Amino acid sequence: MKDCLFCKIIAGEIPCNKVYENDKVFAFRDINPQAPVHVLIVPKTHVDNILQCDGDMAAALTEAVGEVARLEGVDESGFRVISNCGSDGAQSVKHLHVHLLGGVQLTEKMN
Ligand code: 5GP
Ligand code: ZN
Repeated sequence: MKDCLFCKIIAGEIPCNKVYENDKVFAFRDINPQAPVHVLIVPKTHVDNILQCDGDMAAALTEAVGEVARLEGVDESGFRVISNCGSDGAQSVKHLHVHLLGGVQLTEKMN
């Protein structure tokens, strides 16, 4: 989608630190990491947020979460997955993305 930051990252028009890619999904390091491991996992097809995510896309994202967790070495220690949605969810980039956070003991508090 034109003027979408993450579409431009996927297209290689804006640089990123890529972690993983397959035909449906792209994953890269968050520019402002909130944990030692902070990876954004996004579908290559633009949808605004999780409300527009169908089953195929959800499956692709979920499989990529596992791939990235293994690549980043947090599959055994554990990690957290978050997808912010809309205004109250504090979603700042309107291209569906999943945050994978780990590499440290995360707090129980989630907001
Ligand atoms: P949201 O707040 O929408 O859930 O998450 C958006 C995330 O994108 C934020 O954690 C922010 O740090 C990250 N971000 C914003 N701009 C860029 C960028 O240009 N490159 C990368 N790698 N991450 C970005
Ligand atoms: Zn997009």
